[in-house]
Amino acid sequence: MKIGILSRKRDLYSTRRLVEAAEKRGHSVRVIDPLRCYMNISARKPTIHFKGEPLTGFDAIIPRIGASITFYGTAVVRQFEMMDVYCLNESQAISRARDKLRSMQLMAREGIGMPITGFAHSPDDKSDLMNLIGEPPFIIKLLEGTQGKGVVLTETTKAAESVIDAFRNLDAYFLVQEFIGEALGSDIRCFVVGGEVVASMMRKAKEGEFRSNLHRGGKAIPVNITPEERATAIHAAEIMGLNLAGVDIIRGKNGPLVLEVNSSPGLEGIERSTGKDIAGTIVEFIEKNASPGKTETKGSRA
Ligand code: ADP
Ligand code: MG
Repeated sequence: MKIGILSRKRDLYSTRRLVEAAEKRGHSVRVIDPLRCYMNISARKPTIHFKGEPLTGFDAIIPRIGASITFYGTAVVRQFEMMDVYCLNESQAISRARDKLRSMQLMAREGIGMPITGFAHSPDDKSDLMNLIGEPPFIIKLLEGTQGKGVVLTETTKAAESVIDAFRNLDAYFLVQEFIGEALGSDIRCFVVGGEVVASMMRKAKEGEFRSNLHRGGKAIPVNITPEERATAIHAAEIMGLNLAGVDIIRGKNGPLVLEVNSSPGLEGIERSTGKDIAGTIVEFIEKNASPGKTETKGSRA
């Protein structure tokens, strides 16, 4: 097969591992910077070009679209879909998962457990919004944050109010969430490929930090997940319509609570902590599933 990996950097661990796994299985692989792709959006013959050359003949595309390039990156994925090329994760599914508010509404509709979450437009409504959530501490999150960067823990209502005012002054949208203290700074990353949890790890925040992101100094440790956690992760990925997903779950006192679903989950932490060949599993899934004309808009909901 000829596989394209949409990634900004070929030396990123995840990109390198996917290239390695695909080549090991006899496929030809090309890493393509999505920001250097340009498109002819015609109904009859949609095309994608890269540095003066049309990109043709691909059997499958693995999108690795970072949060900072969601808009253009998903447009490139969509163009491949228009060209009938199989995309491991489709553009709609990536956009759906990337927006924390949209994805939480979709999951809530399907009965997935989540921390109590509020959303408002006007800072004038902040007091009542916080009343809906409960008592401080509160978590305040930017809608499109990643790697823990847009997530703030506010210990008091006063602190929460200041953060909300600051975010809104910058015209940034945010969620207000109950703080799940019983998780003690840890959460579980379930790696879903093709409707199965193929690996999982617990991430523990470093001393003095509540965010467990590995980018924030969190540590990956082995974990056995419960059947309920497994089912929740699979269901969350399915609602998003993602074939490849990193579902982040926090252990609440009444069961698993989904924090978010990542559409380009990193391979480094999960492969190093479990010793599993996840890149190989992903390529294997593509071998079984990629065929032209298989593009569909997955997940029944917007
Ligand atoms: P990001 O997209 O930046 O990773 P997340 O929503 O996954 O944002 O939050 C980052 C981390 O912060 C989580 O992995 C978790 O450790 C911690 N966290 C997020 N929300 C909560 C919450 N409601 N209660 C407790 N910890 C939380
Ligand atoms: Mg996260």
